[in-house]
Amino acid sequence: MYNFDVEKPGTIAEAATAMRVEDAQALGGGQTLIPTLKQRLAGPSKLVSLKGVAEMQGISKDGNTLRIGGATIHAAVAAEGSYSALAALAAHIGDPAVRNRGTIGGSLANNDPAACYPAAALASGATIVTNTREIAADDYFQGMFDTALDEGEIITAVSFPIPQAANYQKFVQPASRFALVGVFVAKYTDGVRVAVTGASNEGVFRWTEAETALSANFSATALDGLSVSPDNMITDLHGSATYRAHLVKVMTGRAVTAAS
Ligand SMILES: Cc1cc2nc3c(=O)[nH]c(=O)nc-3n(C[C@H](O)[C@H](O)[C@H](O)COP(=O)(O)OP(=O)(O)OC[C@H]3O[C@@H](n4cnc5c(N)ncnc54)[C@H](O)[C@@H]3O)c2cc1C
Repeated sequence: MYNFDVEKPGTIAEAATAMRVEDAQALGGGQTLIPTLKQRLAGPSKLVSLKGVAEMQGISKDGNTLRIGGATIHAAVAAEGSYSALAALAAHIGDPAVRNRGTIGGSLANNDPAACYPAAALASGATIVTNTREIAADDYFQGMFDTALDEGEIITAVSFPIPQAANYQKFVQPASRFALVGVFVAKYTDGVRVAVTGASNEGVFRWTEAETALSANFSATALDGLSVSPDNMITDLHGSATYRAHLVKVMTGRAVTAAS
C-alpha cells in the first residue's frame, strides 16, 4: 500500500467535507477497495470511512418504497423482508465475510460488470440518492465500472419501488461467486423491467425486447422467438460471448417462472 490518511466522519455533511481533498476516496466495506490498495492499483491521499455515518445505515419502508442507506451491509438487506427478491439477491452475494462488510453504496459506486445490485437497481427503476442529488438508475449506469457519480460524490441511500413480482437468477461463476450472467426481472403495474449483469462489455443493461414481450404476457413462453445478440458480450476464460448471450435468455425465463 501507499501512505494515506484515514478520516471517520459521523455525518453526511462531515463526509462530504472530508471528500473535498484532492484524491480523497470513500471507503465502504473495503471488499473491493482494500485489495486494490494492497496491490498498489490505487493511491488515494485519504480514505473517508462511511461506516460511522449513522444517516447512511439501515433500511426503512415508506408506502411502496424501500429506502436503503448507502452504508448498509449486504447481510442487513438479506434480512429485510419487504422486497424478497432483493433480499434473496443480497443473501447470495459472495460469502458471509463479504456480506457482513460490503455495502450497497460501495457496490453501486464500483459498478463491477458482474455485480448483482446494479441489476436489481436498474430492473427496479431505483433512485440513487447522493449527498447532492437524486439519480434515476436509467441515467446512473454508464458502462463498465463507470457511473454518473461526480468526483467526491457519495451515495447516501438507494430507493427501490417494490414491484408486484420479481426474481433474480444468477448463474454463478464458482471461483468468485459473482454473476457469470445474472438477470433481475421486476413486474410493476405499468410494465416489466429486465436488467442483465455479467454479460456485456458495457456493464449492466436492460433487455428491452424481453420487457415488451413480458409486459404483454408475463410468462417464460413470451420469450420464445427472442434472442440476444452476442455482439459486445464478454468473452473470457469462463465463457464465450455466445454462451453468455444464450444464458441471458435462459436466466430470464427462469426468473419469470420463479417470479410467477
Ligand atoms: C470474494 C468476493 C466475492 C464477491 N461476490 C460478489 C457477488 O457475488 N455479487 C456482487 O454483487 N458483489 C460481490 N462482491 C463485491 C462486494 O459486493 C463488495 O461489497 C463491493 O464490491 C464493494 O462494496 P464495498 O462496500 O466493499 O465498497 P469498497 O470496496 O469500500 O469501495 C468500492 C468503491 O466504491 C467507492 N464507494 C464505497 N462506498 C461508497 C459510497 N457510499 N458512495 C460513493 N462511493 C463509494 C469506493 O471509493 C471504491 O471506489 C464480492 C467481493 C468479494 C471480495
